Amino acid sequence: MRPTDRVAAPADLAATLAGVRALLLDMDGVLVGKGEPIRGAPEALVRLEAAGIPYRLVTNTSLASRSTLARHLARAGMTIPPERIVSAASASAAYAARVFPGGRLYVLASADARTEFDGSGLRLLRHEEVDRGEPADAVAVGDSTEELTYANLNRAFRLIMDGAVLLAMHKNRWWLTPEGRTLDSGAMVAGLEFATERRARIVGKPSRAFFRAGFDGLAAEVHAAGGARFHHGEVAMVGDDLWNDIFGAQRAGFRGILVLTGKHSRADAVRAAARARGGGRPDAISPSIVEVAAALAG
Ligand SMILES: [Mg+2]
Repeated sequence: MRPTDRVAAPADLAATLAGVRALLLDMDGVLVGKGEPIRGAPEALVRLEAAGIPYRLVTNTSLASRSTLARHLARAGMTIPPERIVSAASASAAYAARVFPGGRLYVLASADARTEFDGSGLRLLRHEEVDRGEPADAVAVGDSTEELTYANLNRAFRLIMDGAVLLAMHKNRWWLTPEGRTLDSGAMVAGLEFATERRARIVGKPSRAFFRAGFDGLAAEVHAAGGARFHHGEVAMVGDDLWNDIFGAQRAGFRGILVLTGKHSRADAVRAAARARGGGRPDAISPSIVEVAAALAG
């Protein structure tokens, strides 16, 4: 494996992926971009499937439930059942159920994303209940243009000042929509951290636990199918975000393959590699997921 900030030639990409038996895939910027399928992505998934390379989608999207994401992907020509998706919203529900069993949460996310908390045993507080002074164990902040209002952020602020833990479904700065670069909920999380002087617990990427949740799902699938156990080093993460996808996955023990179909460019990779602190290098840079699938499917 050779660290690089150049776009890998097919042979180099194949060499970097040697021994990889499964993939963690980002969604936005890898499979879909600005609401449209990335060119060749549906065929790449079919190719991986045919080659027996299992994968999990690990996405920081918290706008919608996994069922809704699966329906959107199906409309874009990709059949990925909700069980193969780990989202920042689903991981936040699982995390909160584990850390605050039977607890009370104030969740800022769409009604659809909030369905990920159904059956978790957690009680989600309504805005009026917060206004009546009911306490919460945690506040969870996700993406929702309707819910991230001043009034709701102020409710979250008061709860955190009274002792609730701040859970960030993720802390992304921005994302690409058909209108261009778009402010993400990371800015609201940073604002709450500033005002409360508390650090958020980040549940989605780049947290190690999030990548591990994707890995555990893959390992269980392979084990159930009678396959041999595999290790973190046999899994590669494919993503378009250097910090959240690539460096996060590398810190969790996986290989990180940057694709150039989304947020970050080769020039961004060069800049990240030159940073004295907090930077890094992807294990390889691929033009898109198409070349990754071709290298793995042989
Ligand atoms: Mg992405």
